[in-house]
Amino acid sequence: MLEPLLSYVPTKSPVVSLYLNTDMTKRLKEEVMLVLKGFLKEAAEEANPEDLGKIEDFFSLEYDWQAKGVAVFSCTEGGLWLTYPFPQPFKDEFQVLPEPYIRPLVHLLSSHERYGIILVSREQARFFSFQMGKLEEFGGVSGTIPGKHKQGGWAQARYQRHIDEHAAQQLKNAAEAFTKLWDKEKFSYVIIGGTEENVKTFTDFLPGPIQEAIATTFTADIMVPISDLEEEVVSLVERFEKSRNEEIVRQILTEAAKGRKATSGLDDTLNAVREGRVNILLLDPEFKAPGKKCPNCGYMSFQKIEICPVCSSALEERPDILNDALAETLRKGGKVVTLSGNQELAKAGYIASLLRY
Ligand SMILES: [Zn+2]
Repeated sequence: MLEPLLSYVPTKSPVVSLYLNTDMTKRLKEEVMLVLKGFLKEAAEEANPEDLGKIEDFFSLEYDWQAKGVAVFSCTEGGLWLTYPFPQPFKDEFQVLPEPYIRPLVHLLSSHERYGIILVSREQARFFSFQMGKLEEFGGVSGTIPGKHKQGGWAQARYQRHIDEHAAQQLKNAAEAFTKLWDKEKFSYVIIGGTEENVKTFTDFLPGPIQEAIATTFTADIMVPISDLEEEVVSLVERFEKSRNEEIVRQILTEAAKGRKATSGLDDTLNAVREGRVNILLLDPEFKAPGKKCPNCGYMSFQKIEICPVCSSALEERPDILNDALAETLRKGGKVVTLSGNQELAKAGYIASLLRY
């Protein structure tokens, strides 16, 4: 989803980036259209009229108003036209810039990672995806446990051993089936439910990278209705992300205080982003900082300078230099972690990073 935006090459014509809250349970369509008209009018000075016309047509003719939020990126000259509906609302916002304004989209995606959810039992497994509060079932694998009546003459111990072997085989098959799904679905984390014993056996059959991505495990019945499971998963994910984020903040700030592999505050963090050293960029979505960017070499700064210290080109104004910082982090293979209203991060200047070296 972010790939075409990150690899976009600016042209002479600017990109119109638009985010709208289209949650029809909270506001009327007319209200959204009014906000949109206001934005289009405001954008008319800088933007290509063709882009603005295209966006207006999209909302009057094409958009189905089912999604709670939508992001639109348009630059006809640059061959860019992308519309992304989401089950979560955006704050209404638009930007006309040489490059796409991806920050709200990145924050939304980074605070709603995609999870693979697995339920296991000795007889079957069920697989689900979870993102943005929604659980969807893929189907799973089921085997049949040998019926007791067929083994009438077996001694109890031998029968039990047979069942255990069968169950282990079934859990192994399930682990292999999930591994295929993992390769295809690009989950960030997995959550496994079942009895403690089955979860453990199943986990042992998973490849290392999937084991490392286990967010948490829980006790669950294989036949749990999807609505109950969704409720449970929402709270498991909330708890996991909260403690993961706290751990990241603690780690980054401890490292930064010791002057090791971490930065805090805008100045040091921007430098690290420029140098391609950022592994995890941690920032508060409300924190915005106007700055300058070099159209030639990509140099970024929030200082009041006019000329690029690297290549001597004239710098361009940016209303939010963090959009560029975050795009650059992602382009160089780093990860963005969004953290709203965290006091520790606020004290560190609302932005910090963990470095690769
Ligand atoms: Zn430059």
